[in-house]
Amino acid sequence: MTPEKLRCVDNHHVWHPFTPMRAHAREESPIIADAVGFELIDVQGRRYLDGVSSLWCNVHGHRVPEIDAAIRQQLDRVAHSTLLGLGNVPSIELADRLVRRVPEGLEHVFYSDNGSTAVEAALKIALQYHRQKGDRAENRNLYVSLAGAYHGDTIGSVSVGGIDLFHGLYGQLLFHSVRVPAPVAWRTPVGVTPAEYLADCDRQLEATLREHQSQIAAFVIEPLVQGAAGILVHPPGYLRRVRDLTAELEIPLIVDEVATGFGRTGTLFACEQEGVVPDLLCLSKGITGGYLPLAATLTTTEIYDAFLGEPQEGRTFFHGHTYTGNPLACAAALASLDLFERNDVLANVDRLERVLENRLGRLATHPHVGEIRRKGIMVGIELVEDRDQKRSFPSPRRTGHLVTLAARKRGVILRPLGDVVVLMPAPAMPPDLLERICDVAVEAIDEAVAAR
Ligand SMILES: *Cc1c(COP(=O)(O)O)cnc(C)c1O
Repeated sequence: MTPEKLRCVDNHHVWHPFTPMRAHAREESPIIADAVGFELIDVQGRRYLDGVSSLWCNVHGHRVPEIDAAIRQQLDRVAHSTLLGLGNVPSIELADRLVRRVPEGLEHVFYSDNGSTAVEAALKIALQYHRQKGDRAENRNLYVSLAGAYHGDTIGSVSVGGIDLFHGLYGQLLFHSVRVPAPVAWRTPVGVTPAEYLADCDRQLEATLREHQSQIAAFVIEPLVQGAAGILVHPPGYLRRVRDLTAELEIPLIVDEVATGFGRTGTLFACEQEGVVPDLLCLSKGITGGYLPLAATLTTTEIYDAFLGEPQEGRTFFHGHTYTGNPLACAAALASLDLFERNDVLANVDRLERVLENRLGRLATHPHVGEIRRKGIMVGIELVEDRDQKRSFPSPRRTGHLVTLAARKRGVILRPLGDVVVLMPAPAMPPDLLERICDVAVEAIDEAVAAR
């Protein structure tokens, strides 16, 4: 197809996710045809540096020889074979690697194919675990999560999510769950100090868990930083505190590392930074280096054992997706894990953190930047109309989106969360490329806030 024909068919027949389609059709967004390294190339041959890792999943760049070769080799053996009742070689090798690399004690890997299903599986495992945990069986079906949380788009993962828009739209489909306030100083209500607000968040966390303890199936959390909520960084020690309380009250802790996993917070997994071992760990996005859809829900032997029994006892986990543990995706994931070690990607993340620190410093006093939040290489720049009063821009103005358009003209792809400009470089990106992304982001912010 010619570029014109592709545009026409895209506008008529491709329904893009989370995209207002009428504006999309007007804006002639790039149609990507190729990529090399950390650049995407559109059908007109224009090149763009990718500032958001293809929606937070790319790790080592594109067309990485080692990952390409691993997938090609696997293609010469078998592209797909089911895990329902059968094994396949790459899924076994990957499970072995994962259990050795995640926090110690997570020994069993349940595969699926995206972040939402990784969470969905964790929710169902927790519920069924309580029913089947031997002589301590309980009927617990309440989930507790954080305000503003994002755990995916399927019904269960939206039910434990805290995004008001989704609850407004799909509320009738969702199951009841309980939210505790997110410990985020930026959200301090008027009349109290941030310190008082954070102390109150902590009190409400403890009170909620104690009050509902006997009904709670699990507590679900994005560790250290809530991504889609606007890159909201929690105070140090919060995750540890959640683990201590949930352990004391025997509430399973589900840690959703779909966004934070695979290097983005500075360590391979965010949990490591507070020495936390969850009862269930959800991984996806970066697991294949951003190449292919794959997810894993890992759990402890204590939980896994509740599912053991003779077939007729009905203790089986009745859940599984067609492409679960896909061999091509697992082969890509194995190659990606090799590269983490061979290229010392975490040392590069360290370098990238310093670039972000240096290059974004000049935004700290910008009249339309309310706050710059960062954990590792996850960055949120909150744009406001009035900095002192923390007053947002009117939402129809789509200021965050204007930043995206201004960056695109300068050859950088960004995708905001409302008026929060997100920078999510790939963990293996060379520092000089990130410098350019930062500089373009600053220029694009200036252009967008000045636009009328
Ligand atoms: C992206 C994301 C999900 C959902 O993953 P999908 O693959 O888009 O279904 C779940 N949890 C978190 C924290 C995420 O960032």
